[in-house]
Amino acid sequence: MRTWAEIDLSALEHNYRTLRAMLAPGCRFLGLCKANAYGHGAAVIGKKLEELGADMLAVACISEAEELRRSGVSIPILCLGETPEACFPLLLEYQVTQMVEDLETGRRLSQAAQKAGKALKIHVKLDTGMSRLGFFWDPERGEETAEEIARLCRLPGLEAEGMFTHFADADGSEEYTMAQLTKFLDARAALERRGISFPICHCASSAAVLQYPCTHLDMVRPGLVLYGYYPAEELRGLDGPGLAPVMAVKSRISAVRALPKGTCVSYGRTARLERDSLLAVVPIGYGDGYPRSLSNRMVMKIHGAECPVVGRVCMDMCMVDVTDVPGVQAGDTAVVYDGPLLERAARLAGTIPYELLCAVSPRVPRVYLEG
Ligand SMILES: *Cc1c(COP(=O)(O)O)cnc(C)c1O
Repeated sequence: MRTWAEIDLSALEHNYRTLRAMLAPGCRFLGLCKANAYGHGAAVIGKKLEELGADMLAVACISEAEELRRSGVSIPILCLGETPEACFPLLLEYQVTQMVEDLETGRRLSQAAQKAGKALKIHVKLDTGMSRLGFFWDPERGEETAEEIARLCRLPGLEAEGMFTHFADADGSEEYTMAQLTKFLDARAALERRGISFPICHCASSAAVLQYPCTHLDMVRPGLVLYGYYPAEELRGLDGPGLAPVMAVKSRISAVRALPKGTCVSYGRTARLERDSLLAVVPIGYGDGYPRSLSNRMVMKIHGAECPVVGRVCMDMCMVDVTDVPGVQAGDTAVVYDGPLLERAARLAGTIPYELLCAVSPRVPRVYLEG
């Protein structure tokens, strides 16, 4: 294999158990499996989470739910995004729980469910300050909004199992997050006054799971922390034992080449060797999801030593300076990402670990390790 991603399922298990231990007894656990389980491979991760005892999984779209079902996942799956009307039958066929954020969509879902003679579970989405999806909760118009949601919940063929919201700044502002929580709880109370009570109210993604137990409610919805990363540096260690990064990306060195001082390296000649050098050609590039913005900035670990990326990252390869590391040969392994390297790459690339995990492309085979 030229380049591969090692997925350590015992690290996933460690993270799952660590997070579980932070929850009150009875609090449900939904594991995020969207975007190919943050790049880790949804089928294997989904099944592993089911085996570990997760209560529910979530995906972004119906095709992701379909993949999980076809891989044998049988626990409930929540679809967090809109599903096009043409795919409503798939929701029913695969028994996917659908997020609903407006009454009109609810009516169309209700019709589809009745036509199929089945019940469709829904979770109502409330927008309390993220300004993405959901019934917009304006306290001034709270009663009206609650009335609309109540009408949705009473539609035939639908089973309103849950209500949820999403925090915009749970790793930033406590004040804003608590204001969102308050709106959510107000909405829940307004619906209870109308005889609607949801078995599962949920709002906490990773950052809130770690630092705000009051947001855990009936279920938590962590993603990033399951995969061993922290949404913000200040949150590191709040879990106690520390999370274990699940993914490592490795690459097999294609060639090691001795090049004289003054040689230009890679496209655009952005690097020029300042001494006689040994360069390892590593078969990973932006076509594998290794960002081009890491050109001349990032390092890889070879024989345990940090070796700088020299010149531009190409689509399928990049060059790494191994002059100071004795004995590097073609066929040796370069560690492209482990936990700390991925976090460093994210900082250097001006992004977050989430994006680099998702970016690891389908060309990179996922190799699963256990124990
Ligand atoms: C992605 C997502 C999550 C998980 O977020 P993390 O920060 O990865 O824990 C939870 N809820 C919703 C609605 C999401 O879209």
